[in-house]
Amino acid sequence: MRRLRRCKIVATLGPATAQRSAIGDLFRAGADVFRINMSHASHDDMRERVLAIRSLEQEFGRPIAILLDLQGPKLRVGLFKDGAVELKRGDIFVFDSDPTPGDASRVHLPHPEILEALRPGHNMLVDDGKVRLHITEASPKRAVAVVDVAGRVSNRKGVSLPDTEIPLASMTPKDHADLLAGLEAGVDWVAVSFVQRAEDVVEVKKIVGNRALVLAKIEKPQAITRLEEIMEVSDAFMVARGDLGVEMPLEKVPGLQKRITRIARRLGKPVIVATQMLESMIALPVPTRAEVSDVAAALFEGADAIMLSAESASGRYPIEAVATMNKIAEEVEHDSFYRQILNAQRPAPEATVADAIATAARDVAETLDLKAIVAWTSSGSTAFRISRERPEPPVLALTPNRDTARRLALIWGVHAVVTDDAQDVDDMAARACVIAAAEGFASPGERIIIVAGVPFGSPGATNMVRIAYIEK
Ligand code: PEP
Repeated sequence: MRRLRRCKIVATLGPATAQRSAIGDLFRAGADVFRINMSHASHDDMRERVLAIRSLEQEFGRPIAILLDLQGPKLRVGLFKDGAVELKRGDIFVFDSDPTPGDASRVHLPHPEILEALRPGHNMLVDDGKVRLHITEASPKRAVAVVDVAGRVSNRKGVSLPDTEIPLASMTPKDHADLLAGLEAGVDWVAVSFVQRAEDVVEVKKIVGNRALVLAKIEKPQAITRLEEIMEVSDAFMVARGDLGVEMPLEKVPGLQKRITRIARRLGKPVIVATQMLESMIALPVPTRAEVSDVAAALFEGADAIMLSAESASGRYPIEAVATMNKIAEEVEHDSFYRQILNAQRPAPEATVADAIATAARDVAETLDLKAIVAWTSSGSTAFRISRERPEPPVLALTPNRDTARRLALIWGVHAVVTDDAQDVDDMAARACVIAAAEGFASPGERIIIVAGVPFGSPGATNMVRIAYIEK
């Protein structure tokens, strides 16, 4: 089964798509990667979904990536005597270390480190920014705040602190347990939430080792100030526009999305644009014009993947949402501006053999109108570097490594196939032609370009290109 677009689709699983049949329908409609959000899934849910996806892989004969999204340090207020309070603009309201249920004047903030870190002037956003306060007095036991935007605050609502450096590791004990369970189940990518510093990602990578790749969700202002260093240590990124739009002024999000996607393209690391892409499809079978334009903007930026959250997890039209993204991507990628914009933003190759060969392969393939760039790859890195070129022909990655093939499901333009390592150069060319034809990339008489490293089986040794004809 071959996709007719380069950008990948990530579909979040949830109650609307918990069954194997629904996950199969999402795959048929175009989902390449399934996201399991550990804010909402139990270990049993997660394991069941992983098993269903792995059995669908067998059925469809295609590698599928699974992204485990860790909840991260989500801060919450405690409980209220009456379950909720209405705060009015100008009210004084206290967050303190007293666990007794709150009232109209105070509530427990069950995070002592946060009380210690708050300072006068810091903003505090409750329930995704629906209620806003600023701190006027702070001590390790209580923080006094004034309400700037009125609203209702109920039991255990989430709290965001855009100005406060949170002295917590981005991995909580729950994340640690979820991570170990996810690795055990065999997920391919792990997403770290609320990353503030490069060390937050490094900490997760130490545990993960080579069992998965680690993606940093960019959603905090503190991460924006350290973007380059975080992006340097991460394997991929998500522009997590939901929390980013709570913690930063909304109007800054589009520019940040561009900045993050440009850096990701320069580094040759995948980037997912996420959240509210087709939000209205949670309730309706068609998107708004603005949502279609938003998806198109991410495609024109050359994002590796676009993501559905509630649309596919809990909405009424999950399959339609994936099919809609698929249709938009197919159309936009055929627009004459698409290639022009992608080419204009192409980063220069780094001074490495791998990049020199990736650039040459793209150049030759485009000049000669070759039907595919075939990359023999064991770790996947050759395919990552070719994808970084955003070449016009599709990239067919051939790998003996099933985990690599699954990881590559997230990468722009890459169609991965698991196959035994080639014996020699002729075998490499012959098998590349057979697979390119069988997978629908090239017909007899057409040509492909093959990129590989000789001797075979030594990772990181990309050093040759060869043009081959598909025999009649
Ligand atoms: C986001 O904030 O955009 C996001 C994807 O994170 P989550 O869905 O985990 O809140």
